Amino acid sequence: MFDFLSQKFSSLFSGLGDVKKLTEENIQSTLVQVQDALLEADVPYKVVEAFTTSLKEEIVGQKIVGSLQPAEQLLNIVQHKVISFLGGDSSQLAVSYPSVIMVMGLQGSGKTTTIGKLAYKIKKDAEKAGKIIKVMVGSVDFYRPAAVDQLHILSKRVNVSFYRAQNTHPFAAAKEIFAHFKQNNYDVLLLDTAGRLHIDNNMLQELQDIDASLQPQHKILVLDAMTGQESLAVAQAFDGTIGFKGAILTKMDSDTRGGSAFAFRYVLKKPIFFIGEGENMTDLNVFFPDRAADKMLGMGDLKSLMERAEEKISRHEQEKAEKALRSGSFSLQDFADQVAMMSKIGSLSSLLQYMPGMKTQLSPEMIHQGEVELAKFKAIISSMTLKERLDPSILSDSRLKRIAQGAGVTQKDVSMLLKRFEEAKQYVKLLNKFGS
Ligand code: GDP
Repeated sequence: MFDFLSQKFSSLFSGLGDVKKLTEENIQSTLVQVQDALLEADVPYKVVEAFTTSLKEEIVGQKIVGSLQPAEQLLNIVQHKVISFLGGDSSQLAVSYPSVIMVMGLQGSGKTTTIGKLAYKIKKDAEKAGKIIKVMVGSVDFYRPAAVDQLHILSKRVNVSFYRAQNTHPFAAAKEIFAHFKQNNYDVLLLDTAGRLHIDNNMLQELQDIDASLQPQHKILVLDAMTGQESLAVAQAFDGTIGFKGAILTKMDSDTRGGSAFAFRYVLKKPIFFIGEGENMTDLNVFFPDRAADKMLGMGDLKSLMERAEEKISRHEQEKAEKALRSGSFSLQDFADQVAMMSKIGSLSSLLQYMPGMKTQLSPEMIHQGEVELAKFKAIISSMTLKERLDPSILSDSRLKRIAQGAGVTQKDVSMLLKRFEEAKQYVKLLNKFGS
């Protein structure tokens, strides 16, 4: 997500390296750069202006303290400011039962996909808290062809109930879905409403009618983070008519515009409950202003990565890998397991996105090369027998040839893997020796 902003900010602070103290003059040039970075990220001018004004007040009022370098101090101030503009803390969507959640948004914003993700999350979270709940989804989006069918398919994927209304008028259909929800004692209803390509009075009226009739506990707006400034106008239009509790920003995995989150928080002063970071049903994550700010400022997002790893990799797998590493009996089989474990979290480039500074140090070609090598390693290890994986010293020339052929690589590639593996093993031994 905040890739673009992050690149801007990192270069901005590294440019301040040799500044001895913060003077009016160098504050001014930095402020101009901050301003440009935000404008380029599609944050509306008014928001940028407000941000830089309050930033300036804060910087001018402060003295350089203790051992901090001026650049470090400036980074601290900007970081705190960005966090506070992004809302301070993360916001929880507290769902009590029974609850109706009406999900609104323009066509193509990712509304239907988000309902699938949200249904999955609400059910999973309840399970984690020891509760089995009945979640159902229904759609009154008759404007986008196949939207209702799409929701039906998603409901099967995340294993929640789906109800198809007989009525085809949105208001009547919403009432029918609501009646089904009540009659069957469901705990949560997620209602997919009809979007349009643009803000449209009929759509708003339709939503107001449904809102008045169903009186949902939560109204959530889905916004496409890729639409930059337009998403702010959309949010304002929904807020001025129907009102909503908070937003979910979708497509934050794209490399565009951390600016939408920034502008939304500043103008609407409402929480961003979640961000969509992919098309899979598990790609819905809590929005953490501090992490988003860290990322904007080029500090990476290691906390998110660790949580992702924990969710995708079972404790058993983690313990097994750690044991193999610690015991010093790290085999090619363990290596293969580790590569498989890593792939569960994401591709190499998506992993690097979370590492502070890594993405700027490695060129796209190097990352691509890394991905190609990993794929080769996987193929080579798959062509080996278990015996060979556990004891590569038995690899004779004829075995090497067979493995290379099976993996569709050269014999040199196989030797390279073995060399790399030996190096990694030595490194692990060393780590163990020093008890890290
Ligand atoms: P709706 O018209 O608002 O219901 O939009 P859809 O749910 O059909 O989504 C529109 C497109 O955006 C689909 O291709 C989705 O797969 C995609 N999409 C939705 N959320 C995300 C997201 O968080 N990341 C990415 N990359 N794509 C998304």
